[in-house]
Amino acid sequence: MASFSFKLATSIRFGVGVIDELPDAVKKLKGTKPLLVADPSLRKAGLLNKLEEPLKKTGILYVLFEEVDPEPGLKLADRATEIARKNGCDCVIGAGGGSAMDIAKATAVLLTNKGKAVDYVGLNKVEKPGVPKIMVPTTAGTGSEVTFTAVFINEKTKSKGGINADFLYPELAILDPALTTSVPPLVTAYTGIDAFTHALEAFVSRAAQPFSDLWALEGIRLISGSLRRAYCQGDDLEARSDMLFGSLYGGLALATAGVGLVHAMAYPLGGLYRIPHGLANAVLLPYVMVYNLVGDLPKFATITEAMGEDVSHGSLREAAEIACEAARLLCADVGIPESLKDLNIPKKDIPKMAKIAMTVARPIANNPRTVTVDEVIALYEMAYEGLD
Ligand code: NAD
Repeated sequence: MASFSFKLATSIRFGVGVIDELPDAVKKLKGTKPLLVADPSLRKAGLLNKLEEPLKKTGILYVLFEEVDPEPGLKLADRATEIARKNGCDCVIGAGGGSAMDIAKATAVLLTNKGKAVDYVGLNKVEKPGVPKIMVPTTAGTGSEVTFTAVFINEKTKSKGGINADFLYPELAILDPALTTSVPPLVTAYTGIDAFTHALEAFVSRAAQPFSDLWALEGIRLISGSLRRAYCQGDDLEARSDMLFGSLYGGLALATAGVGLVHAMAYPLGGLYRIPHGLANAVLLPYVMVYNLVGDLPKFATITEAMGEDVSHGSLREAAEIACEAARLLCADVGIPESLKDLNIPKKDIPKMAKIAMTVARPIANNPRTVTVDEVIALYEMAYEGLD
């Protein structure tokens, strides 16, 4: 067995109703005045109270920041930091999808490190630990509550990139499935396929190891078993719990083993056209799976099994191929568009997109099949035209 290391940096609290423990968590981390970065949809869905009431009841003064854009730009992290600094905040709570959580994570480290968010894009550029941070995911998608990454669009260059450093690992993740029942079907679909993609790409990653494999497979099993139900019956708490647990597993797996070509190819779609991260991944996933298949037939066959499909007949290759078809059907069943054409991506930009995708270094390096720029162009072209 190859050598490996792994780290569990984040305490995890999971269950319906655990959001009531938020004030105790703040106190335990010695926070006195949190910045509460909250997705604006929480107020609209009547969920913001679930965070505000317990804080108010226990007399914790907090500062509310609701200027959260989907696929946030770096400037939003600077703005949140400015407000937190002005108000003397000494800890940060991020409540929402990846967009809110990433703003919160970046703010926590910007409060103690000089400069602007743009200075820290890259790997291990953050010099000092931040203030304590608690993440409360309200979509079942990114797994950002347990990762060392905060992803932003650079407004100037229109490129997407992460602030990646161990200091970004949240101290605590509070996962309450009841906060996810209001997520609309299409967002449930694309965040759910995002989580599935994290688990799948981590499982076949060249940096995969025993711990990431365990989490990834369980994530694949939970998400492929419950996404359809969460999509069709948003108030089904059991399905929502499975999804939130699955996305947590996906986050743990990706933080350990990284992701692959789907993510590299999705980044330019976010940076250039602001296509939501999960949706970009979901449209590309079936095409990239077919391409990657030969890179690791045994692992793709194991994915087939984890998706609950029959692998008892046929060859290893046939078993592996079933995973691609099962993933394609899962995407189709939850209304994911079949092609980039459906997302109104200009076809003429494909070479530019491929060039950018090849610069997303770690996912390209982790991919189970070594890829060239021409192959990425061919994959985008296939994804543009669709399967018919
Ligand atoms: P998001 O945070 O943008 O949320 C998607 C939509 O769902 C938004 O319109 C939001 O308002 C709404 N929403 C959120 N919670 C809701 C609720 N409970 N009820 C109703 N509506 C709700 O999307 P996301 O996919 O969760 O996050 C995407 C961002 O995360 C991207 O910027 C992506 O690059 C980043 N990301 C980060 C990591 C990481 O490890 N840090 C990993 C993957 C992706």
